Amino acid sequence: MTLRKHPGDLLLLGLFLLPVVVVAPALPWGSQGWLYSLAELAGVFALSAFLLAGMLSARIPGMDPWFGGLVRLWTIHRWLGFSAFMLVMAHVLLLALATLPMSLGTSVATLFPPLSHWEVWVGWAAFLNMLVFIAPTLGFIGTLHYQNWKRLHLLSAPALVLALVHTLMLSATAWVWWLLSALALAAIAWRKLLSPRLARKPYVVDGIDKLARDVVELRLRPKGKGIRWRAGQFVYLTPMDRSLLAGYGEEHPYTIASGSGDDELKIGIKAVGDATRALLDIKPGAEVRIEGPYGTFFENAALAQKGTGLPGEPRKQLWLAGGIGITPFVAGARDRVGNTVAQGPDACLFYLANRPERAYYLDELVRIAEACDGFEVHTHYMNEHGVITRDYLAERCSDFAERDIYLCGPPGMINHLQTLLRHEGVPAHRIHTEAFDFL
Ligand SMILES: Cc1cc2nc3c(=O)[nH]c(=O)nc-3n(C[C@H](O)[C@H](O)[C@H](O)COP(=O)(O)OP(=O)(O)OC[C@H]3O[C@@H](n4cnc5c(N)ncnc54)[C@H](O)[C@@H]3O)c2cc1C
Repeated sequence: MTLRKHPGDLLLLGLFLLPVVVVAPALPWGSQGWLYSLAELAGVFALSAFLLAGMLSARIPGMDPWFGGLVRLWTIHRWLGFSAFMLVMAHVLLLALATLPMSLGTSVATLFPPLSHWEVWVGWAAFLNMLVFIAPTLGFIGTLHYQNWKRLHLLSAPALVLALVHTLMLSATAWVWWLLSALALAAIAWRKLLSPRLARKPYVVDGIDKLARDVVELRLRPKGKGIRWRAGQFVYLTPMDRSLLAGYGEEHPYTIASGSGDDELKIGIKAVGDATRALLDIKPGAEVRIEGPYGTFFENAALAQKGTGLPGEPRKQLWLAGGIGITPFVAGARDRVGNTVAQGPDACLFYLANRPERAYYLDELVRIAEACDGFEVHTHYMNEHGVITRDYLAERCSDFAERDIYLCGPPGMINHLQTLLRHEGVPAHRIHTEAFDFL
């Protein structure tokens, strides 16, 4: 089912299993015992997962929909990294256990041989390197500031090289590792060297609309040919204005808030840290670079329906937005204005905010709802109504649990609504969420 929804998964599975298929038959299953071969197999799986995680860092615009969107790809990347780390530990533990029946000394000497067996020590160096860059991701040493975490993550490159050297020196089958490492290297070279030059398009800030004390909407005009996008997609924006207090040259993901037919690219930004706060003061004429678009937020329902094999009309939609998580829905609403192609199924939007002043896009959304059939807007103010309930939703949208449901907002809101929807019997494949903190 997932392969019908995400055809790219077949490629990922093939690449992940290829080394095992090639290497497993050549392992010494009989001569050195199955535990020893299992230890080797854990090492093979670990390097496969590590190399695949490297390949998934490529971020090529237009390719992520094959895999269910960039957010899903990052989730797979993270799981692969975590699995590689756990498998390396299993590799070490199984090697110790496999040689323990001979003697404790043999077991220790297998793991810590004389320095002349440098290929084993290279393996240890790879493991320690991995430990350093994975520890903050797993929260072992608290959370790092995002940019520091990103810098530390660069250690994954030497860790990968060391793990490869270790494996190539000890493995009888080399070609499969050369093939996968060439793909991983190409992916990393694209991401770090080529994409900043080839994939980022120059745009100019045409105007800035202040929506609230800490929220602005940037209107961007391409210098040359701009990107094309669909509602619900996001881009990486890199400010190239040295007068900004922070964030010069840093790429950050933001959802496109303009409709797909708009001339301008509109990005709603809420200040949460250094880089976003600095953008509140960006001036018209400043240059930014735009990379993308990425994501499949509004296509997920069609993909889920395809995955179930059920034919039929697209279902009506329920949109639940909180805080700056309103931006994909603003794009969806703007798409409906004067754009018959992009009308889409009926949609009912609940705009969740603490108080009326925090519903910064409300006036425009209400105007769109008045002008477009099949689009409704409701508000929910936490200060006034408390936590949102099923009765609150049902009074305003009686068939809410029968719809395809889209959620975007702070984690607390998403968790609460997911629990509420599950209690109402909404199956998971009809609930689509966009997280703004996927890394
Ligand atoms: C798919 C997606 C769409 C988003 N759309 C919007 C939007 O429309 N409007 C909006 O205001 N915000 C959006 N965000 C969030 C926005 O990217 C962060 O608020 C911003 O990057 C914070 O940077 P900072 O330096 O100001 O804050 P920091 O204090 O550095 O970061 C705060 C948190 O933001 C995340 N973050 C920071 N930098 C990055 C990065 N380069 N890549 C990924 N995550 C990062 C981390 O989880 C971090 O903990 C979106 C995020 C994602 C993943």
